[in-house]
Amino acid sequence: MSEAASYTVRDGIAVITMNNPPVNSLSAAARVAVGAALQKAEADAAVKAVVLIGSERAFSGGAEIREFNTEKTRVSPVLPELNDMQDAMKKPLVAAIGGFALGGGLELALGCHYRVAAPKAQLGLPEVKLGLLPGSGGTQRLPRVVPMAEAVRMMTTGSPVSGDKAKQLGLVDEVVQGDLLQGALEFTKKLLSEKKGPKRIRDLPAKLDGDPKAFFAAARAEVAKASRGYPAPLEIVACCEAAATKSFDEGRKFERERFMVLVEGSESKAMRHMFFAERQTSKIPDVPEDTPTRPVKSAAVIGAGTMGGGITMSLVNAGIPVTIIEMKQEALDRGLATIKKNYASTVSKGRLKQEDMDKRISLIKSSVRLDDAKDADIVIEAVFERMDVKQDIFKKLDAIVKPGAILATNTSTLDVNAIAAVTKRPQDVIGTHFFSPANVMRLLEVVRGAKTAKDVLATTLKLGKTIKKVAVVSGVCDGFIGNRMVEKYGQQSLFLLDEGCSPQQVDAAAYKWGMAMGPLAMGDMAGLDIGWEIRKRRTIERPDFIYSKVGDKIAELGRFGQKTGKGWYRYDPAGGKDARKPIPDPEVDKIISQYRSDNNIKVRQISDEEIVERLIYALVNEAAYILEEGIALRASDIDMVYLTGYGFPPYRGGPMFYADTVGLPKVLASIEKFSKGYMGEVWKPAPLLIKLAKEGRKFNE
Ligand code: NAD
Repeated sequence: MSEAASYTVRDGIAVITMNNPPVNSLSAAARVAVGAALQKAEADAAVKAVVLIGSERAFSGGAEIREFNTEKTRVSPVLPELNDMQDAMKKPLVAAIGGFALGGGLELALGCHYRVAAPKAQLGLPEVKLGLLPGSGGTQRLPRVVPMAEAVRMMTTGSPVSGDKAKQLGLVDEVVQGDLLQGALEFTKKLLSEKKGPKRIRDLPAKLDGDPKAFFAAARAEVAKASRGYPAPLEIVACCEAAATKSFDEGRKFERERFMVLVEGSESKAMRHMFFAERQTSKIPDVPEDTPTRPVKSAAVIGAGTMGGGITMSLVNAGIPVTIIEMKQEALDRGLATIKKNYASTVSKGRLKQEDMDKRISLIKSSVRLDDAKDADIVIEAVFERMDVKQDIFKKLDAIVKPGAILATNTSTLDVNAIAAVTKRPQDVIGTHFFSPANVMRLLEVVRGAKTAKDVLATTLKLGKTIKKVAVVSGVCDGFIGNRMVEKYGQQSLFLLDEGCSPQQVDAAAYKWGMAMGPLAMGDMAGLDIGWEIRKRRTIERPDFIYSKVGDKIAELGRFGQKTGKGWYRYDPAGGKDARKPIPDPEVDKIISQYRSDNNIKVRQISDEEIVERLIYALVNEAAYILEEGIALRASDIDMVYLTGYGFPPYRGGPMFYADTVGLPKVLASIEKFSKGYMGEVWKPAPLLIKLAKEGRKFNE
């Protein structure tokens, strides 16, 4: 028998131990080994019952991701065949679940006749997170052991339950305190002494009281609301309905069909792309994964404003003590109060324990002296976005901070090399571009300067993981990856207004397509003064910079967005929880229409399809330049930036993946068409896009 599972017999009970570290994935070798062991146990006259167990860390994490898209996924027995073998066994089969049983791992446990689990075990069917549904009977078996509403919830959210909770729900028969194998053996002996044979889940009815029609109508409505644009959750509800209304075998057949539809669908392909793209981000061709890193046991954050506060929270949330430094006590007090208010609000929502809040706050020291950064392993600067201010701080830090400390800047647009150049240690300087709110947003652009040392990059990427960010490496350029692209997106959104759209029409089209919010509502949230400042700077730096001045007309009136109660929309200060809800404002329509007539712009009807194409292809075209210039290492990194930092819908896989899905020749043809339209001179197709389109290739290959 292969090493992926061992077989021993104890007191007439066969113990099959899966041994496929780190997570006991159901690789081809593991399936073969488990299948052979089950057959051996069934044939072994000395064996009366069987226990299937994994490691303390994992019963099984499910499918082997390294074998995705390879022949190995088809090696017999595939999981449904293993499940059939389990069902056919005449000896009772008990799953002993320690650690996690996820996806196919839980389906394997559901194929067993009984289940026992450690109290803290994690049991779940997270396939929905990859745009799929449990494809090996999970949708049919789970609702036969746990109440239907819980089964729907578990599978449509993908959230796991603990061993204790699983017992309450009926998913496991017993919780084992202490040694799991020992407990499983005792449980099995008891079964034997009570002469309990196999209890196959397939033979049980679905756990649903009341009228299935009414239940599933309500479930569909609720799930549809929560899963805009995602087909998998609704397919899961349909499979659950089949579990309640059809025979087990018919339900399995239905589940298989729906699974195949999802596997072939673009949404699941996009979400699987995202899953792999995230794992790629830390792979840097010239910085091997075993590059030594520097210890980061403490940090200093300079500036206690919007970003400094959020960055501090991210660090202390991960247990890293922070000294937060401001120029004046007043600003420091304000910053600290905001941090406390944010934590208190999470506590009041029941999402954080008071003692955890206290622990986090206790990790924050504050100071008005830059000197207090001297012992930090990393200093993250988040002061005003001005080169002179930042250079002054870096010069001072250079004189203060211990050798080997990392000096990071949170600048969004400034040249990291120019900041590094004022120090005597440019090799220790790096950009850490967090996104607002920094304690919430997952994206962290790590900006690699021309002189940044490899171990500094490796350490920063590792820190990114520690604080639960998706760290994407960017080269130095204005706006780095994300903001450089978003400038083109914002530019198109204003040209669309010039040409006849209302802000709400542009935003509705983007939202309907899947963006978390439209570009104009996003501007109102970020603050319209920021874009206005950047445009003013651009017109000096790049006199050929083309943009619609309609945005300036709005900003000149002091309409800076949500923070001033007015921007592209109005906001109701007495709106309570709707205070951030954009309300269309006729004032804005007047300003736009005046701008059109002042500039003799011909107005026309613009379709939602054109709105979306212009917005998204503006991102794609700029991204192609970014890729070609080597600012981004790979197309999937750009996708991750948009998926984790800009509200791009995961089921579209990111701008580059989406362009690949549409087909690059088609994307290019649209861009060429736009280049002949209004302000067409901004549409210069990127040479890389032209090349790949001509060669029939993709960005993500
Ligand atoms: P902010 O104005 O809210 O905070 C800046 C803070 O720095 C202020 O509290 C100020 O008192 C303090 N400060 C200024 N000079 C200082 C000095 N010499 N020593 C100590 N403290 C000093 O600004 P913010 O929005 O937090 O932005 C900070 C940085 O982060 C900027 O570089 C900005 O471009 C960047 N950034 C901002 C966002 C965003 O959405 N706000 C997103 C990403 C990056």
